[in-house]
Amino acid sequence: MPERILVIGGGPAGSTAAALLARAGHDVLLLERSVFPRYHIGESLLLSCVPVLHVSGAYERVSRHGFQVKRGSVFRWGTDEWVIDWPAMVHPDAHSWQVHRAEFDHELLRNAADQGAKIVEGATVKKIIFAGGRAVAAEWAHRDDPEDVRVAEFDFLVDASGRTGVLTKGHFANRRRHDVFQNVAAWAYWTGAELLPGSPEGSVNSISTDGGWFWAIPLAGGQLSLGHVTHKDIFAEERPRFASLEEYYLHQVQSCETLGPMLRNARRVGDVRAEQDYSYVADSFSGPGYIAIGDAACFLDPLLSTGVHLALYSALTGAAAINSALNGGLSEQEALAFFEYAYRRAYARLITLVSHLYQRYDGKDSYFWQAQRLHLTEHDDRPPIHSFMEITAGTTDLREVADASTRIMTDALIVEADQAQRTAGEHRVSGTLGVDMRPLRDLWADPSDPSRLAAELDGVYVTTDPVLGLARAART
Ligand SMILES: Cc1cc2nc3c(=O)[nH]c(=O)nc-3n(C[C@H](O)[C@H](O)[C@H](O)COP(=O)(O)OP(=O)(O)OC[C@H]3O[C@@H](n4cnc5c(N)ncnc54)[C@H](O)[C@@H]3O)c2cc1C
Repeated sequence: MPERILVIGGGPAGSTAAALLARAGHDVLLLERSVFPRYHIGESLLLSCVPVLHVSGAYERVSRHGFQVKRGSVFRWGTDEWVIDWPAMVHPDAHSWQVHRAEFDHELLRNAADQGAKIVEGATVKKIIFAGGRAVAAEWAHRDDPEDVRVAEFDFLVDASGRTGVLTKGHFANRRRHDVFQNVAAWAYWTGAELLPGSPEGSVNSISTDGGWFWAIPLAGGQLSLGHVTHKDIFAEERPRFASLEEYYLHQVQSCETLGPMLRNARRVGDVRAEQDYSYVADSFSGPGYIAIGDAACFLDPLLSTGVHLALYSALTGAAAINSALNGGLSEQEALAFFEYAYRRAYARLITLVSHLYQRYDGKDSYFWQAQRLHLTEHDDRPPIHSFMEITAGTTDLREVADASTRIMTDALIVEADQAQRTAGEHRVSGTLGVDMRPLRDLWADPSDPSRLAAELDGVYVTTDPVLGLARAART
């Protein structure tokens, strides 16, 4: 009998995990609260999404859809400007897309169904049932009959419920917020806008201002998504000066000199929307019979457009870990420890780089050197901007996790996170930042000895050959 897997949530994380696990032969049920297509923010995709879509089977659907092709990014940051040009730096056809998320997420959900997952929309998971410490079943109800609470039993659970965090926020309440990245974003859509001169095709432009920064993301149909992000304290100070959110937003747009030429022929379409995007990380991303992926586990910051990358990356590593645990390739404890390590490591590296970028006075060379330090590729003699490009394209995470020779770096990341905390604290906002790798120790037999974890997991890597899973390189 195939193992039964329940996936909560049909965003990019959930539908990718469901597709991967269904392709591997499991019996997958995905319960999604909304009925798709539904609006979602998070439109700029990193390069790393493309290989994951190939593995999940969604690539053809997404590439046929007609999304805006994206070939890089431009940062006008502080007094510096730099261009990340994927075709020049990676491969002549290197690209991802800028997407209307309602349509993108719908394509991924339909792909999960194509791959064999059973999808129920309008279905809200209310509660997870544990037996002997192991997640074993979920209570859920359909919106057509909310009083009829049904029970879905499973062998393994994937919580991909985004910010709702059915397990992490609801059941365990073990998410911690970062004091530093507590932003408010306000955005609207425009037509007739231009990108900064020198932008590679379909680039995202990231433009710093005195109290925050703008994203400018070109979308199919000649639209531009233009969002302003600032710290919640600044927002709380400034917002009361304006009669409406719209006036506040337009004031920010008009005060940004860089945007003047970009919007000279542009017209705003639709309302101004806003969201608070407080950054958080759960103390644990996994446990007996379950994992949490995507935003259910952690959320970083919109600055480097990393959300969908982290959703797809954690879906890939999570599905590989579940396959290995269920197929007996690795013990469940080992497989989950590897997943938890890989996801925390990716998150920690990105948050370290983001925190550095928020200290705008440092200058671009310092961001590139920081990226090279986080990159850990030995004998890499390319200019440090390549490390910045690779990390912000998400490809460093994929490369490391698929490479059997990647060293397990638990202690190094505790240091990185501590350093990020100090430097971010010195900047404008005091408080704590940091992705603690220490929860990993609790997954291990001897929690006081993280080197044990490193020793056990060294040589473990994600493979798709012959099926998606974790493999261990032969020890010499
Ligand atoms: C202002 C802002 C800008 C951003 N910009 C970018 C960007 O440019 N690029 C980028 O990559 N990322 C960006 N992000 C981040 C990105 O939006 C998220 O990281 C991404 O959507 C995470 O995907 P997910 O699948 O984990 O969660 P989601 O996409 O949120 O999906 C979770 C799903 O779970 C469902 N669900 C919730 N609770 C339940 C339940 N109880 N039962 C059943 N279903 C449930 C929800 O309906 C939802 O469909 C941005 C975020 C913000 C706030």
